[in-house]
Amino acid sequence: MKKSSEEPDFGATGQFELTGVYFVDKKADAAFATTLGMDRIKTLLLLGAGHAHLQVLTQLAANRRSDLDVTLVTPWSYQTYSSMTPGFVAGHYPLEDCQIDLQPLIREAGARWISARCTGLDANTQSIMLDYGGSSPGVDLHKTGISTNRPAMMTYDFLSIDTGSVMEKRTLDKAIPGAFEHAILVRPLEQFVNRWSQLLNKAKAHPDSPLRINMIGGGVSGVELVLAMHQGLQAAGLRAQFSLVAGGPVLAADFPKGTQKRLAQQLRNRQIEVHSNRCTRVHADRIELDDGRSLPSEYTFLATGSAAPEWLQHSGLAQDAEGYAQVNAHLQSTSHKNVFAAGDVASRVDRPQNKNGNRAKQAGADLALNLLASLTNQPLNAHNPSQHGVSFISCGDRTAIANWGGMSAEGAWAWRWKDKTDREFMARFRRG
Ligand SMILES: Cc1cc2nc3c(=O)[nH]c(=O)nc-3n(C[C@H](O)[C@H](O)[C@H](O)COP(=O)(O)OP(=O)(O)OC[C@H]3O[C@@H](n4cnc5c(N)ncnc54)[C@H](O)[C@@H]3O)c2cc1C
Repeated sequence: MKKSSEEPDFGATGQFELTGVYFVDKKADAAFATTLGMDRIKTLLLLGAGHAHLQVLTQLAANRRSDLDVTLVTPWSYQTYSSMTPGFVAGHYPLEDCQIDLQPLIREAGARWISARCTGLDANTQSIMLDYGGSSPGVDLHKTGISTNRPAMMTYDFLSIDTGSVMEKRTLDKAIPGAFEHAILVRPLEQFVNRWSQLLNKAKAHPDSPLRINMIGGGVSGVELVLAMHQGLQAAGLRAQFSLVAGGPVLAADFPKGTQKRLAQQLRNRQIEVHSNRCTRVHADRIELDDGRSLPSEYTFLATGSAAPEWLQHSGLAQDAEGYAQVNAHLQSTSHKNVFAAGDVASRVDRPQNKNGNRAKQAGADLALNLLASLTNQPLNAHNPSQHGVSFISCGDRTAIANWGGMSAEGAWAWRWKDKTDREFMARFRRG
């Protein structure tokens, strides 16, 4: 009766795989499942190990249920924390400090991990497509004791999406031709941090030739990273000439004017050239600007062009104008009650909000509560994130800018505060 020649996957929970992928005679299967009492088991599929899902995993661990079969689909065996990534680039943290090992969390939650990327979703048939290419290179799944079964698709009863926003070839090729091919993208962070380490090692091997580095993107992550890169190379005794191609006259547009001025001053202090132009094309050794100029570029970084994942487009899920999954106050899809989404990939219909890590973090607890409540048809909680939190932007040199409402202030105290907050967040997910 089994379609696949592979052994059945009993998963981390020891429960039988009920995804429907393997069976052809659904009626017979349903009867068989009822006989075993397994028709009561619901499958919960978590896509992505973003900020909110880290908390969902810890909540699932605290509320283990024998009637729930949980699978996490995410390409990497660890999650890189974006807030600490500039600190890694600046040389303040080793990479391990910025990454969370997912495997203990998955085990505690009694979940199964599939090291893959979701490439398609059909919310009407409750199924996803998987791609294993390039997932968690270097991880020997046999050694981890987790599922090595590689289904091309999976079905679910409940789905939760926390896959962030992405930088994909088709979108980037349209916006800035050559960028996908020649630039180093800041997403996924796992690839970005590897590319930065490679650059640093190469530069150390040739310390006498100054580098020419261009950062494209005047948003907060582009500015924060270029400051961190300047610091990182300086600390390693290396020389480089940096430019920031901001794509407009305003830096960090989502932040108060005071913050924008502080960032501009930080860039001036480090003699980082700022161009308000848009980049129109990236070549292997130069970039073109919209005023016809071209800048030499040994390394071009791209911190712009994050978008909704393409696989959402034909999913049948309600989406906003930019293609992000539309959710209500319960973080529940406005079109499919068994689908939830949080973080950058989600768009609230009732209260539009900026996409950032803080928002994603805040959503985690309510997402977990609502997933568990929906399994038992309990009422769902409205997610009302605080509007008054402090946010921080690091300036590279162990100082940071603190933002609160429309105000800002900066100093070493702000960096220490940010560092403490970041480490506390990481500590919640560290095991052993
Ligand atoms: C350099 C940098 C610094 C930043 N610093 C800050 C900061 O200090 N504060 C702040 O608030 N925000 C910051 N941000 C923004 C912040 O990173 C994002 O808003 C935040 O990561 C969004 O969280 P998320 O949970 O939605 O998704 P993410 O953190 O992006 O996580 C997505 C997860 O989904 C997985 N995934 C992706 N695609 C798939 C797929 N197809 N199938 C399965 N899994 C998939 C990924 O591997 C990852 O595990 C920064 C961004 C960058 C680039």
